[in-house]
Amino acid sequence: MTSEHLSTTTVMLQAWTALLEQTSDAVVLLDNEGLIVGASVPARQLLDQGAGVLGVAFHDLVECAGEPPPASECRLADGRRLRVQHTPLSDPDARPAGALLILTPETPAPPAVDHLISREQKLREVTLTISSALDIDTILDRVVHLSIELIGADAGALSLYDAEHDCVWTNHSVGVSQLAGSPMLRGTGAVWELLDSGRSLLLNDYRSHPQAVPLLLEQNVHAALAVPICTPHKMLGALGLYYLQPGRQFTLCDQQLLETVARQTAVALENARLYQAALQEAERRSLLYRASLEFGQVLELDALYRVIHDTAARLMPCDTCVIGLFDAERQQVEYVYEVDSVGVWPPERLPIERGLLGFIIRTGVSLRITGCDAEIEGWFGAEPFGPGEQPTGSLLAVALNIGGQVIGALSIQAEAGDAYTSADLDVLETLAATAAIAIQNARLFNQVQQLATLDALTGVANRRHFLDLARHEVERAQRYHHPLSLLMIDVDHFKQLNDTYGHLVGDQVLRAIAARLRNSLRENDVVGRFGGEEFMVLLPETGREQALQVAERLREAIGGQAVVTDERAVCVSVSIGVVSCGCSALPLTIEQLLKDADDALYVAKRRGRNQIQAAPLRV
Ligand code: GH3
Ligand code: MG
Ligand code: MG
Repeated sequence: MTSEHLSTTTVMLQAWTALLEQTSDAVVLLDNEGLIVGASVPARQLLDQGAGVLGVAFHDLVECAGEPPPASECRLADGRRLRVQHTPLSDPDARPAGALLILTPETPAPPAVDHLISREQKLREVTLTISSALDIDTILDRVVHLSIELIGADAGALSLYDAEHDCVWTNHSVGVSQLAGSPMLRGTGAVWELLDSGRSLLLNDYRSHPQAVPLLLEQNVHAALAVPICTPHKMLGALGLYYLQPGRQFTLCDQQLLETVARQTAVALENARLYQAALQEAERRSLLYRASLEFGQVLELDALYRVIHDTAARLMPCDTCVIGLFDAERQQVEYVYEVDSVGVWPPERLPIERGLLGFIIRTGVSLRITGCDAEIEGWFGAEPFGPGEQPTGSLLAVALNIGGQVIGALSIQAEAGDAYTSADLDVLETLAATAAIAIQNARLFNQVQQLATLDALTGVANRRHFLDLARHEVERAQRYHHPLSLLMIDVDHFKQLNDTYGHLVGDQVLRAIAARLRNSLRENDVVGRFGGEEFMVLLPETGREQALQVAERLREAIGGQAVVTDERAVCVSVSIGVVSCGCSALPLTIEQLLKDADDALYVAKRRGRNQIQAAPLRV
């Protein structure tokens, strides 16, 4: 080769090298010796990956330039074939100057356009369908069906992660049966690998995975593709597709498509969950609000306890409801309301140290127990859930608290295990706050009522209340022609007793007389204090003979035994005037009866006291 030829060739190759920088094709420039003198950027990228990528060492490529390289050796890492086109270069005098190698990776097999368009459409359809539903089950069902259709898989399933119990539930399977209704615990199943790493699993040889689920293998699942359903902060679950027919494989493209579906699903799922939580919260708030209004209107305590129970039962499972109130004076819990599936338990008392409600009242803590077992029983002593109760599956217990002062406790229980969420406990606390105020109000109202109707010294009905009750009883007796009797009782020489021992002793004697009267009478009889040392007794359904016997019993009960006061034992006697009305239709008023009784009492006093005098029978 002459030097002139050499320099012409060099200049030409330099020009070509400069041109190579402009091309977007993968072009390599060789000199006459077969050495590389230049390469375009795309060619350098291919060459930089070296022999591993091209499948042949570069010098082999150079050697075979001009002839098609052996097909099997010229493949890229992703499997595509590399075409090498050889173009000889000549100088202006038609002498060989070098060569250009144009490297073209073969484009993937065509199926493409139609297929991609239909996938794109389906993906859009999936997105729309998913986000147009707000019911979680509907969303999940749609996701599985549409994903199978989109990828062309044989089967699919959607599993949700239950963070509270650290397990996975698979309730949406299509084309394979999975163990719906029983959770997959941590470590069982390949899905845990996905949940822990947050990365998709492309298992084209599912059988060889160490955590392959036997149930799926039995159904001939040989390839699986699973992608995570997650938000940036939370793992929600996994979406999986399966091939059962032999020979079919998932691709990277399938994985990317399914990941897109999973992202949409996560958003839709979160929306649906937020929507349902908001809906439930709104319903609960409205119910709690209505309950607080209703509570305020119920002033009768037993009725109020029932309303509290009903409200709790509308908010959450409630097979048993127990309300205990704290009796600070006696350091006891009074179980005022206890209703379970068996029925209503009678009120009982337990020392504050015993029982579940005692524990709540002492500590003020709220409790949520999801499985009541012997160990929990042990915490609270022999009777953890109140007297006569069997331990149940789940339990919530909260204090009835007013401004930091615990007045009692409320517990609800469900036979099913794991029936309550922590949100339920929050709701019950809110309910308990309203209930506590309502119970306190009703108790105060009842106290005021009692003050207005009972005599402060003796605790029996005061004069006005006695007359109200007596008037009602007289009217009833007249209407139904039933007998009725009235006793007017006056302490003998009471003034003298006061003068001798003092008023305080006198007061204690009056209290003792009232207690003896009450203890000697029936439930339906009414005792009242009429004036200073005068008592009245109304005996419904009682004729004259019987009334005289009752009067005698009372006289005995009071006079037969000395009254022991703080200072001394004192003997007292009473005189009693008795009036009875028979079954006649003669209209009588309470005033007429009182006058007759007073007259009879006057006679008893005049005849020497400590005796009984009957008024003439009105017929
Ligand atoms: P008699 O046998 O005739 O009924 O004589 P008496 O002394 O019981 O009758 P009198 O009506 O003269 O006296 C009633 C006395 O009862 C007068 C009053 O000091 C006393 N008394 C009235 N209310 C109370 C009270 O709440 N406590 C005390 N300790 N005494 C009362
Ligand atoms: Mg008197
Ligand atoms: Mg008297």
